[in-house]
Amino acid sequence: MPSSPDVATVVIKTPRGIRFDCSGCGNCCLQWPVPLTPRDVEAIETHQPAGQPSPTRRLAAGRLNMQTFTHSLEKKSDGRCIFLTDENRCQLHARHGAPGKPSMCRLFPYTFSETPVGICASVSFASSAVLFNSGKLLSEQTDFLKEKYDLFQELFPTLQLDWKTAQLLDGTALSLESLQSLHYEYSETITPNADETELPPTDMYAKLRQMSARAANLLPSRSAAERMPPVEARPKIIDQIVLKYLAKLYFPTDVFSNDVFDLDIGGLMKDLVSAPDLVLFDANQIPYRFKDLIQLKLGKLEPALQDLLDRFLYCRVFSWLYFGPGFHHLSLLAGIHHLMHLAVLIRLKIKCFMLDHNSQSIEIADMAEIVRTMERRLTQLQLSSNSIAGLEVLLPSLERADRIGFLAE
Ligand code: SF4
Repeated sequence: MPSSPDVATVVIKTPRGIRFDCSGCGNCCLQWPVPLTPRDVEAIETHQPAGQPSPTRRLAAGRLNMQTFTHSLEKKSDGRCIFLTDENRCQLHARHGAPGKPSMCRLFPYTFSETPVGICASVSFASSAVLFNSGKLLSEQTDFLKEKYDLFQELFPTLQLDWKTAQLLDGTALSLESLQSLHYEYSETITPNADETELPPTDMYAKLRQMSARAANLLPSRSAAERMPPVEARPKIIDQIVLKYLAKLYFPTDVFSNDVFDLDIGGLMKDLVSAPDLVLFDANQIPYRFKDLIQLKLGKLEPALQDLLDRFLYCRVFSWLYFGPGFHHLSLLAGIHHLMHLAVLIRLKIKCFMLDHNSQSIEIADMAEIVRTMERRLTQLQLSSNSIAGLEVLLPSLERADRIGFLAE
């Protein structure tokens, strides 16, 4: 993998058809804790009028895990950033221009991952402009992206993604050569036509299934992916239990709660062993029976909704943020299947929305909020080693990955 490339010569790979320009909606300034570097703090404090309370707060020792960041910005009582005006404008930007904003605000929503095939840029789906794919193509922002990558390196100097540790399946190593050639195949699967310029891929769920099948071909024995210890719950109930607990993780009752960033692996395992007769999907505060969710058929999503789902999944795959050091060290198979579960969860959430609103459809803005919530949670997750071990037992099943799509049809 590349090690600290010189930013002047660096080539940044960009995902196809993905756009972003700040729309000034202010949505990214709501509720997020903004981490600050000492330089950010100094710049902000220098301009703070005498006698006014400090707008910055020192991070607790336990949160000082990112080294570069020592403080965070204070929030108003409604959770909005202290510098966000009622008109959704950043006061720091208004007073000092874009360079006056904290580094993380300047980086957002760009992300970068250093992979064995190069530096891959992507964007966060917590941004409204990203959700609606508005603005300039990332492929037309290469100089700007280099500046952002420079900033990214400054903020995360110790972030070294060691792809040598990636596994095909928990306990089955994946050499860098195999990984590179698999990802070459994946690029062919995802964007098969080299002449098809700047169109985002379509039907990513089917493409994830193909990726899973290709990875499974490398397994010495396919039964290795089905190695669940004996439990009382039947396979289809297990599918529902896994989705129920993933839904609790990604769509908690209080999205902005600062406590729960881990999977309730204890509850999940208990349900597997005690095999409940009825599993409820309660990602919307209103619990629904899976039977009712299965009965409500979504069919093909409207093109704009499908495009949003496809772009969300594609950006994760493009930037390798779904397995190995890119995502909590999940094995490749578990990582692909986890993405498939996320797609199913989004479709189930759409069904819940339709049942809640007694409606036959969902507006793109409402689906965008579902995706935004999931993206926020993905950024904040802190999975324990027990949770990761549990996911490694539950997610690699090729049979389950094939089956779960039916729950969200
Ligand atoms: S400092 Fe400005 S850009 Fe950053 S979160 Fe606050 S209002 Fe938004």
